[in-house]
Order: sequence, then structure tokens, then C-alpha cells
Amino acid sequence: MSRIAYVDGRYLPFREAKVHVEDRGYQFADSVYEVCEVRGGRLIDKRRHMARLARSLAELRIPMPMSPRALGVILRELVARNRIGYGIVYLQISRGVARRDPAFPVPQTSPTVVATARPLNMARNEALAEKGISVVSVADNRWGRVDIKTVGLLPNVLARQTAIDQGARDAWFVDNDGNVTEAASANAWIVTRADTLVTRHADHAILRGITRGVTLDVLKAHGLTVEERGFTLAEAYAAREAFETSATQIVMPVVNIDGHTIGDGKPGPVARALRRDFHRHAEAG
Ligand code: PLP
Repeated sequence: MSRIAYVDGRYLPFREAKVHVEDRGYQFADSVYEVCEVRGGRLIDKRRHMARLARSLAELRIPMPMSPRALGVILRELVARNRIGYGIVYLQISRGVARRDPAFPVPQTSPTVVATARPLNMARNEALAEKGISVVSVADNRWGRVDIKTVGLLPNVLARQTAIDQGARDAWFVDNDGNVTEAASANAWIVTRADTLVTRHADHAILRGITRGVTLDVLKAHGLTVEERGFTLAEAYAAREAFETSATQIVMPVVNIDGHTIGDGKPGPVARALRRDFHRHAEAG
């Protein structure tokens, strides 16, 4: 079965799914995106993803091209046309096509809307989570507004490749104060020796992950101690557990950071329980 993509009002075979060379997403990364998990053919936490998308667009003064409900219809149609049971949908909205000039184009410029869907391999993801992953730390050299989910991801690309080149799976960014901000495409967490869950507070220096938000709700509902604050690499190396959260991985245990074994080198009980229970709390739409 051939893959189908959505481009500006049309569902197209992949090889015909193209945007203009002067699209501002292509030329300036003047574009925002969302990635949403699909499970059992349903979009997970769609409402939260749509709310974050609306915020990203508003922060950049890109007009919302259609209602969140209409975007939801497109995403569901794409899931159906691509017959995705378990996988992801990707939605990108750029400021549109205009003659190359950094200043905003005329207000009548229509945003470009692109969406794709693809299956993920559940067995492979589960096997990875059973073992846990290794990460390496890298300097956080991103711009000051990574809370906006833009496609300006070059530092994330380089960080991920640095991790792979060093035989690790992912990279954790560390800011100038020596605190971990987040992973290259996930939020970073530790469980301290005192059983406190710690993840960086959601300021402009991290993306407010949807999976992070649901996880925080779960933890608070269970009365667990959570601190939203920066934590150092030294704290992470000495942690009982570490893990990262994202829509594509849900809760992924981290068992090694910069060559330091975390806990006993196996996924810990907190990360395992959070992963197991996540979809009881997430919203399937
Ligand atoms: N942080 C960054 C930099 C990301 O790119 C992502 C997801 O792509 C996340 C965090 C996790 O966000 P979410 O849980 O919404 O997938």
C-alpha cells in the first residue's frame, strides 16, 4: 500500500507530496509542528497537541489556518488512509510561500499545512524499553525559545548524531549553569535516592512535552513527590533511575549517562510503572 500525505487541502501519494522552494519553513524554519502518537488507530492526547500547536502559532504570529477540529479531521483521515494502527502523525504549519525576505510576508499569505503518518514498530519499542537506553550529555546551544515547537531543530539533529557516533541512543542537553534541560527530542527525568521525581521546570528553555504533562498529572494523582527544577549531571549520575518522555517513546528508561551506570543498570520500577500505566491516563480521540 502506498503512503498518503496531506499537502494544503489534498491527499497525495508520497512522491507527489511537495512544498514550494520558497516556502518559509524550508528557507527560514519559519514553521511549527506537532507529533502525535496513534494507538489502536486513535490519536493520543490530540486536544493537548492542538492546544500546544495553537500556542506555538500564536507566539510566532502565524495565523491558525483552520480550526483544531478541522485539523483533527485531516489527521484522522490520514491515519485511516495509511491504515495506521500504532504509529505517529506529523503535522507542520509554515508561514507560507513568499519571495525570500526575512520580514513577514503580506498578511494574506496562507500558511502551508502538511501532514504525514507512519507506523511504528511496537515490538521494537518495547524491546528497547525493556533494556533501557544510553544517553550522552551535550552543551545546550539552542535559541532561547525552544518552548515553541519550531522545525528549527539543527542543534537537536547534531546532538542526536553526536550520541549515535558515541554508541548512545540519545543526547541530553546541559545549559550554562550545568543543569540538564531536556533530551534531543524528549523531556528528561530522574528519580533521586530519596525517591523524588525531578524534571526541569517548563520555562522557555524546554519544550512543554505533552507526555511530560500527562506524566506529571499521573504522578500528582498518585501523591508522589515531584520537583520541577533543573538538575545537574552529577545528580543524574547518582540517581536511582532516569528516563525520558515523548509521544513516540512514551516513557523510555535511561540506564547509562555519559558512561555512568544509572541505578543497577536496568530500567527501574518507577519508569516501568509509568510506561505501563500511561495510556490509562492519556486521552484517546
Ligand atoms: N523536547 C523536545 C526537544 C522534543 O522535540 C520533544 C518531542 O518531540 C519533547 C520534548 C517531548 O514532547 P512530547 O511529549 O509532546 O512528544
